[in-house]
Amino acid sequence: MVRYVYAFTEGGRDMAELLGGKGANLAEMTRMGLPVPPGFTVTTEACRVFLATGAEPDGLSQEISEHLTALEEAAGRRLGQPDDPLLLSVRSGARFSMPGMMETILDVGLNDASVQGLAKSSGNERFAWDSYRRLVQMFGSTVMGVDGALFEDVMTRLKQDRGAADDLGLDAGDLAELVEAYKELIHQHTGDHFPQLPAEQLRRAVLAVFSSWNVERARLYRRREHIPDDLGTAVNVQTMVFGNLGPDSGSGVAFTRDPATGRPGLYGDYLPNAQGEDVVAGIRNTVPLAELERLDPTSYNELRAHMRALEEHYRDLCDIEFTIERGRLWMLQTRVGKRTAEAAFAIAAELVDEGLIDADEGLRRVGGEGLARLMFPRFDTSGIGEPLARGIPASPGAAVGAAVFDSAEAVRRAAAGEKVVLVRQETTPDDLPGMVAAQAVLTSRGGKTSHAAVVARGMGKVCVCGAEEIDVDPRRRRFMVGGTVVEEGAVLSVDGSAGAVYAGAAPLVDSAVMRYFETGDRSGPSAELVEAVARFMERADGVRRLGVRANADTPEDAARARRFGAEGIGLCRTEHMFLGERRPLVEAMILARTDAERDRALARLLPLQRQDFTGILEAMDGLPVTIRLLDPPLHEFLPDRTELAVRLAAAQARGTEPSAHDRELLDAVNRMHEENPMLGLRGVRLGLVAPGLVAMQVRAVAEAVVERRRAGGDPRAEIMVPLIDTVEELRLVGEEVRRVLAEVSEESGVVVECPVGTMIELPRAALTAGRIAEEAEFFSFGTNDLTQTTWGFSRDDVEAAFFSAYLDKGVFKVSPFETIDREGVGRLVGIAVAEGRAARPDLKIGVCGEHGGDPESVHFFHTAGLDYVSCSPFRVPVARLEAGRAAL
Ligand code: ADP
Ligand code: MG
Ligand code: MG
Repeated sequence: MVRYVYAFTEGGRDMAELLGGKGANLAEMTRMGLPVPPGFTVTTEACRVFLATGAEPDGLSQEISEHLTALEEAAGRRLGQPDDPLLLSVRSGARFSMPGMMETILDVGLNDASVQGLAKSSGNERFAWDSYRRLVQMFGSTVMGVDGALFEDVMTRLKQDRGAADDLGLDAGDLAELVEAYKELIHQHTGDHFPQLPAEQLRRAVLAVFSSWNVERARLYRRREHIPDDLGTAVNVQTMVFGNLGPDSGSGVAFTRDPATGRPGLYGDYLPNAQGEDVVAGIRNTVPLAELERLDPTSYNELRAHMRALEEHYRDLCDIEFTIERGRLWMLQTRVGKRTAEAAFAIAAELVDEGLIDADEGLRRVGGEGLARLMFPRFDTSGIGEPLARGIPASPGAAVGAAVFDSAEAVRRAAAGEKVVLVRQETTPDDLPGMVAAQAVLTSRGGKTSHAAVVARGMGKVCVCGAEEIDVDPRRRRFMVGGTVVEEGAVLSVDGSAGAVYAGAAPLVDSAVMRYFETGDRSGPSAELVEAVARFMERADGVRRLGVRANADTPEDAARARRFGAEGIGLCRTEHMFLGERRPLVEAMILARTDAERDRALARLLPLQRQDFTGILEAMDGLPVTIRLLDPPLHEFLPDRTELAVRLAAAQARGTEPSAHDRELLDAVNRMHEENPMLGLRGVRLGLVAPGLVAMQVRAVAEAVVERRRAGGDPRAEIMVPLIDTVEELRLVGEEVRRVLAEVSEESGVVVECPVGTMIELPRAALTAGRIAEEAEFFSFGTNDLTQTTWGFSRDDVEAAFFSAYLDKGVFKVSPFETIDREGVGRLVGIAVAEGRAARPDLKIGVCGEHGGDPESVHFFHTAGLDYVSCSPFRVPVARLEAGRAAL
């Protein structure tokens, strides 16, 4: 029989799929002997059944009541017992942490009778009513669907009425009144009463947590974090402990290290006399954890010991939630904590040094996306004066954008292409769309563990929080700081690394990590970070099997790629060599009416191209340079058809004869017009129908090789034919290539040998790769075109047209142009690799699409058995790191 409920004493951290991350870790802490309030977990399996059928799974309520009875017996009190109630929290907790996205209901078991019992048993009447009003509010909004803001309004009015600065200014009588008002509100809005039966409260709370899996903000968060939609959440039912019992009680959150920099030491926020959610919600200002040492040294030391135990046990940075009830410490949650990219490298390096993990495990814990983030520029703050305000550096990086004051405006402006900074007092999960849309988030309240900070770090967004000097006025869409008023639309520069905000757009400077890649220099103020990066790069290079090349078309890019560790060029596009001032030559070639005219035009292009190739071969001396023959349709080198027609019409209207050249051009443009140029006359097709074009390019390559060889160099050019469908095409082009190579060898007396290979970028080529390999000395997957032709997506159109709808509807989790589609395109890759190698065992195989620099795709290419990936120069370090991780 399926089992849906596990006591905390039965689970463990390896059961996260079934128990959710929170449940698994509560069980783990219980096992470690840490003080965890007892409870049990309802599995994600139960949630999945409920979401699929709309009904409670068979036997669930029976299992829950058995576990509840066990809890009650151990506690010696019953749930909601009128004279001394056992109270419970009902907490969501999915496989992957989704901070604050789903619901949690506290103080379940209170009703009109047991609130009196709680007042008596605790000797604290205010506390009892405070807990009851929290339950009615949470239950009313989460379970019964009343808008949470309505409760807030009632509370705000009451506070104003009593002249109370915050919730501590309300006494027991006020809170009792509030409970009545809340109950009335619920009745008004739902026609139902707040349920008095504790068992009914529990049952409905559990189902509401199940349902919260599908609330809008949770779905958005999952999409953003690429978390599957079908996992469901577990529900943790746990004995309540109380941080709101008085000044000797409180709640807090803490990290075992600084999650921004990775530096060791306890970091966190504490809020005396408060129940859990108050800390992150920013209801009142928290104090730093260090303050707890003064307030309650015994609990503080105990907390420190537990945190050390956790870090050693998990061998990683942990974050925790805790509550102190009348001087007694309780651990309510832990997980391996989110961190910035900088912290990820620093922590991994340090844990390796401490011997807690080995070098390979260290490498597993850093990643290409984080590395890419560290290569971003930062602000040069030397010449821009004092910041407008300072706050807590919650998520690093530098961002410039226009100030906006609510999520909707952020979304609106970002959709129109504007860069924005979302400015809020504090953020809530409802601000998520705005945070996604913004370059940076700035809040006036909350610490490193506030909602804004946690979510921004997770998304890699710049964030400064708790900038207390600024006074945010969302209604009038502005904030005040000192004497200055900053209106909506004003440009701000947010420095998430330093925790500062500047007026205007501050100039940017390169990052230390980028400088290291550029120059090898490891010194400077970020030496420790650079050292950590360097060490994992070396480790990755030591273990990776995949080679890493770059896509580069100029000597400058080639040189940079080489400094970044590229082991050659996987794709040298030649199209830019036909643009700019050379365009008239290309035009002349296209317009040529006689062979002689065409040959003249080609002859003038030849030395220019040769010079380009010489420079690139020099920059990559000794390393392979894969040169792709001209790929785009020729008319891309001619003027735009409409523009040209308009120009001719205008000339006619003025009564002047259009020039013969313009008329010829228009003829050519009309002749060459294609409805679907991307599926038209391009790639190898061009080479087969435009006489002399292939020969000229190959000659330019071969002569460049001769030149480099004569200069004492070691040029390693490879010639790559694009857009092959069938082996016949390659055979024809191959013959011409070899003929020209032989000619140049003969003329120069230098033997020029270039491997000739092909791109595999059409499904037919992949499916007939065995045949093609008879002719091809190497393959390079052009996964951009292969994706576009496999899916039938025009990559220039679809992303704007309907990809966001497809992502919303979950057709795919991520654009197949960003991360390789393993199931479809990946299958073609697999077929081509297998059949290509069967025909030619020493076939060299690489990939040169954008996917070559995408971490997840790199792992796929490793598994698929490719020899190398090729990506843009700036992604080379990312690909090296990920290729190393893939090999572990
Ligand atoms: P989230 O996943 O949003 O962090 P939690 O389930 O952790 O939600 O609950 C939010 C807060 O409620 C916690 O930070 C904790 O302080 C408080 N809380 C949860 N369970 C208990 C409990 N058994 N006793 C006291 N407070 C609790
Ligand atoms: Mg929590
Ligand atoms: Mg292509």
